[in-house]
Amino acid sequence: MASKQITFAGIFFFSWVVILSSFISKSLEAQTAAEPSENFQLQTYLTEEQALALVFPDCDDIATEVITMSHEEKNDLEKLLSRRLYEDGFKVYLGKKDGVIQGYAIITEEIGKFHPFTFIVGVTPKGKIKDIAVLVYRESRGGEIVKKRFLYQFVGKSFKNPIRINKDIINVTGATMSVQYLCAGVRKVLAVINEYYLNGKKAENSATHTNEPAVIPQKTEPIHSANTSQNANNRVARAQKGAEQSKRETGRSEGASSEVKMVKQTRMIMGTFAEVSVYSKDEKTAGQGVEGALNEMERMDRIMSNYKKDSELSQLNKNAAKAPVTCRGELLDVIERSQYYSGLSGGAFDITVSPVVALWGFFREKGRVPSDKEIERVLPAVSYKNIVIQKSADPKKPDTVFFKNTQTQIDLGAIGKGYAVDKALEIIKKYGINNACINLGGNIYVLGTSPGKTAWKIGVQHPRNKEEILGYLELKDEATATSGDYERFFEMNGKRYSHIINPLTGRPVTGTIATTIVAPTGTEVDALSTSLFVLGFEKGLDLVKKFPNVHAMIIYEGNDGKIMVAMTKGFADKFKKTPVKGEDDVKWHVVASN
Ligand code: ADP
Ligand code: MG
Repeated sequence: MASKQITFAGIFFFSWVVILSSFISKSLEAQTAAEPSENFQLQTYLTEEQALALVFPDCDDIATEVITMSHEEKNDLEKLLSRRLYEDGFKVYLGKKDGVIQGYAIITEEIGKFHPFTFIVGVTPKGKIKDIAVLVYRESRGGEIVKKRFLYQFVGKSFKNPIRINKDIINVTGATMSVQYLCAGVRKVLAVINEYYLNGKKAENSATHTNEPAVIPQKTEPIHSANTSQNANNRVARAQKGAEQSKRETGRSEGASSEVKMVKQTRMIMGTFAEVSVYSKDEKTAGQGVEGALNEMERMDRIMSNYKKDSELSQLNKNAAKAPVTCRGELLDVIERSQYYSGLSGGAFDITVSPVVALWGFFREKGRVPSDKEIERVLPAVSYKNIVIQKSADPKKPDTVFFKNTQTQIDLGAIGKGYAVDKALEIIKKYGINNACINLGGNIYVLGTSPGKTAWKIGVQHPRNKEEILGYLELKDEATATSGDYERFFEMNGKRYSHIINPLTGRPVTGTIATTIVAPTGTEVDALSTSLFVLGFEKGLDLVKKFPNVHAMIIYEGNDGKIMVAMTKGFADKFKKTPVKGEDDVKWHVVASN
């Protein structure tokens, strides 16, 4: 079965804001300067969830354990691998079926040439590589390592095998550095699993926390970027003489200083890439704000995840068809907002769509075309009208949610990330920060502007050519998000099936290629980008015309094979078009007046 899934972030930062999207902390700015400006290119291939589904296809449970290494343990591991390690611990995923361990996996990062790439290595209970895949690649060059036919070379290898470039693993011309560090990263994962799980060290590892929630051990120092930046530090120090020098020159000072600095941290949250950057003279507060914002997004994930069995949403999904279930706080809030967008879009946006999304194989990343009968069977479960929210008049009694159909399930995939961005923004503001960018999987809020600029510049990707951008948005104190048919899809018999489903038909939306929204909040842009994707060009733009603060661009298929780009006047005012190669294939027009 020819099936293909690719994930690309619809939006990425452009040209001079490249530094914003890099992992690189201030100490590496000298290195960034040496990097070609067009080099940073965020390419998201798999979410954490998808990667785990890939390495543990038959598992009914995935547990996580966090290994925290003592100083000596880290030394031992470094000696064993003959390299320095940037991490002090590892999060290990244990795939289980009927309680029996089917394999182990670690998601980790290594640096390509300038930026880290994120990959997963899945290992059998005997310590052999079962599967390996890249989740995120962040450079324009060297990306060949994501290809299956390259990665296949690692399958079956264990810690006993040397994994050397050009000897055991055939190199890819032009990607040598990435291949080299991938080999090193794979050996790191094999060593950890070998030492801690297969050689029984884990039992002795007193610092191991079992079934820890999804927290990768972070450096305690709040003002530094994620561990990966440490890694970047090490690598660059080796790669480029003089980096140490510049590190000293731009050395950090405690607390407030006269110089504006950028503090940034990246984590994997909600199965995607979460990044918070803050510009501030007060580095300490900035660091706390960044940490706080990321923690808040992780908290939202713990509430809204479908994947975590103990999340409030999972509990609701499990029980709400039997009897009304108590629902409060953020979960109730986001469900109520979802219902609002469903009403607004005439059912185009619908958080109960997941049973059909599952039928089409999007949750397992194994695309398939279901039969009409199968769709008919689940369609009655799909309607926001099946969700009954009962608000209690008595403050002592809780509000409840009930599902009218026994098959109904809620999936917040189309609104949760934007909502989490808004929550993170609240935290950033609490710290008195007024210059920040929060990005959760392409759902972006920009607060204030970067120093010396009048707006944040955000590139909008060409939907059919990931090498190109259509243009960039100049934004300030507002949010943007994109839904695209190129983000997740599969192809069968030459037809493309996108992951956004028309809830009324139970079938993937056709005709729309991408929608980008600009609006005051993350929740709005996330929900509306999906809504407009389903509604399509005409109805979609009619909808946003009602809201003076909402601006939209819709890219859709024209009759003659042309890519049609329609945008509201308000969007056009913020959007700077860049010349696109093969311009003839793209037809632009500004349509509405807001
Ligand atoms: P992204 O995958 O980039 O977050 P969206 O925000 O558009 O893109 O959300 C798409 C996700 O929402 C899908 O993966 C699916 O789980 C879910 N979904 C698909 N169709 C709909 C729909 N019509 N309404 C609400 N959610 C949807
Ligand atoms: Mg959305």
